[in-house]
Amino acid sequence: MLKVLRQIVQDVSTAPDLNAVLAITVGRVQKAMQTEVCSVFLHNQDTARYVLRATHGLNPEAVGKVSLSPDEGIVGLVAKRAEPINLEDAFMHPSFHYIDAIGEDLFHAFLGVPIMHQRKVLGVLVVQQRDKRRFDESEEAFLVTLSAQLAGIIAHAHATGSMQTESLDGAPSEIRKDIRYDGVAAASGVVIGEIVVASIPADLDSVVDRDAEDIEQEKADLKRALVAVRKDISEVSKNLAGRISKDENALFDVYLRMLDDNALPSEIYAKIDQGSWAQGALREVILEHVRTFAAMDDPYLSERSTDIKDLGKRILQHLQEDMGDRQTVYPENAVLLADELTPAMLGLVPDGKLSGLISVTGSGNSHAAILARSMGIPTVMGVVDLPFRRLEGERVIVDGYSGRIYVNPSTELVQAFSRIVIDEQIVADELKELRDLPAITKDGYRLPLWVNTGLAADVGRSLEQGAEGIGLYRTEIPFMIRDSFPSEQEQIESYRTQLEAFAPRPVTMRTLDIGGDKALPYFPIEEENPSLGWRGIRVTLDHPEIFMVQVRAMLRASEGLDNLRIMLPMVTSVSEVEEALRQIDRALAELKEEGYKIKKPPVGVMIEVPAAVYQTRRFARLVDFISVGSNDLTQYLLAVDRNNPRVAGLYASYHPAVLKALDFIVHEAHKERKHVSICGEIAADPGGALLLMAMGYDVLSVNANNLPKIKYAIRNVSFSRARQLLLSVRSLHDAEEIHQELRQSLKAFGLSRLTRPMIPEQKKH
Ligand code: PEP
Ligand code: MG
Repeated sequence: MLKVLRQIVQDVSTAPDLNAVLAITVGRVQKAMQTEVCSVFLHNQDTARYVLRATHGLNPEAVGKVSLSPDEGIVGLVAKRAEPINLEDAFMHPSFHYIDAIGEDLFHAFLGVPIMHQRKVLGVLVVQQRDKRRFDESEEAFLVTLSAQLAGIIAHAHATGSMQTESLDGAPSEIRKDIRYDGVAAASGVVIGEIVVASIPADLDSVVDRDAEDIEQEKADLKRALVAVRKDISEVSKNLAGRISKDENALFDVYLRMLDDNALPSEIYAKIDQGSWAQGALREVILEHVRTFAAMDDPYLSERSTDIKDLGKRILQHLQEDMGDRQTVYPENAVLLADELTPAMLGLVPDGKLSGLISVTGSGNSHAAILARSMGIPTVMGVVDLPFRRLEGERVIVDGYSGRIYVNPSTELVQAFSRIVIDEQIVADELKELRDLPAITKDGYRLPLWVNTGLAADVGRSLEQGAEGIGLYRTEIPFMIRDSFPSEQEQIESYRTQLEAFAPRPVTMRTLDIGGDKALPYFPIEEENPSLGWRGIRVTLDHPEIFMVQVRAMLRASEGLDNLRIMLPMVTSVSEVEEALRQIDRALAELKEEGYKIKKPPVGVMIEVPAAVYQTRRFARLVDFISVGSNDLTQYLLAVDRNNPRVAGLYASYHPAVLKALDFIVHEAHKERKHVSICGEIAADPGGALLLMAMGYDVLSVNANNLPKIKYAIRNVSFSRARQLLLSVRSLHDAEEIHQELRQSLKAFGLSRLTRPMIPEQKKH
């Protein structure tokens, strides 16, 4: 049964639209369970009814016409209770509701299971039999399992279809306005712009839909790509002749026949003639054939789907290489949309044009989101239902406060959001005046504010905002936008820029922290569970040659400036700290021998792993300072992946356990009279900053964009009121309650301009 289940899920997941998803579902389930009927009812938000959307066995004419409210019929009851109902004879059930048009009067046995997605009932999947009999437990388990797996696919296809208005029967009509998609708020701010899709090279699935600007040009491009692929294949075949059997070599002939002008290419040309650009036409034709072959029962034929995909990929590669010569023209207010937004992609759009970011995957604490925050670019991540291929060139509103986007916004919505954009600008201009003023509370408590950097542009931005030092320079970011590890000399140059720009203010450089969601293209780390894998100091201790080059470069860059601090990420054990310290000492000794005059910099560790929390005091004895990486600490304390949008709602920075750990760390480090800073994102939230100040943190290191807001918050409260706030928060047991308390307190302190603006409420489609 598992094989059947997998096959159904695979077939359904490659279907092109919702109607196809539903048609495949009812057909395959009916066949697999050998029932007489299988139907799907889907919830319609406008009418709040469950509409028959596909059936195998009932009257097909009823599709789209028949619907039930949650109080009607057994289907309604399944939806209302959100649990399966299995009946030997549905006619005897008090909720049975006879509908003439549906042709149900012949079927007694009934099994209905809810289709649940993110705690909501999307619809009901039903099988029926003529005879009176109870579906057995294994049949019920099969349908429940299948429904749980299909729910995500149906939800996605449903959301994808919401680009167009649908009549009850699911037929698309005109393009909708204000189509709302929900994701995770990742960088605050609002922007109204135009979508540019960042696609992954040679990836058919990520090719966007686009109209051809010049049909003849698209056809000529395709022709060139086909010639090139035919040539590649003939050459490979020639090179392998003699080394592989004749039979194996015959596969290349099959490839070449598929590329014959009247085979696959004729279908692609036809799609271009209908107005698609070549890459989109290629994607549609190839994926359609892949689906057909994959669904074949014969294993040999089913395997051929891989060959077709491979061919498609080769043609795409050539098409994209040709395109590379033609410059992409970016609109003024470009909103970059990617299936998986990576830190390296932030540099794709020319300076000054990137105004918003959207990612289908990822979450608010993914590194791309953190960088977006430091750049002040409104960002929404984890918009899992977004039909990103269809959105190239669409107008969009990105609401980085609520984590929502609106495609094809109406004039009214644009006006409402434009007012927010203007208000934000006014606040930002006012906050600029704080630049040269210290972060000092009304009762005279002084708290230094440092910044987190990583991008080249961060230095200028940070100085403009009046940063007093760098609390975290994420050295891995410049490593990510290259093709190989930088040499010692190259690293010296980039570190020197940071150190010089900030001298005599301190600059805390973190040693390479790769792994997790920070991958180097030239040093791939493939792991089942990367957050618990080879990350940060674990990688660099295993590769002393990389660590030593980096430490030497940091030390040499600091010569004569003496404002360097070195920080070690992701430490878990004392032995790791000792080993890293030994290597730093060795690098220093070597450089002294080589004649450099370098002062030993302070070295510190990051507390990011729960095990480190309980060893803060021991670490503090070994090092010069402690810095808390609350982003990772939160993910590990709560066991919530910081990159997973599915559990983004559980990533609670104000969870009482997190706050308790933060409180504990500062006290433990102070027992050893060591300086404690925090560079996680909680410090960049005004409420969080006040709590951390009250806990006794010596420095807050925040992104440059939020620094003025934090300064404003500190300057407008007294330390004693912040202490009172901390005391009241300590007595609360729930993250949401704490959040509420912070919001209310900010208002009471007269800081409501730092809280989220009023966002117009719109219905989700
Ligand atoms: C952290 O984990 O809080 C931190 C500052 O490091 P990063 O976000 O780069 O993992
Ligand atoms: Mg970290």
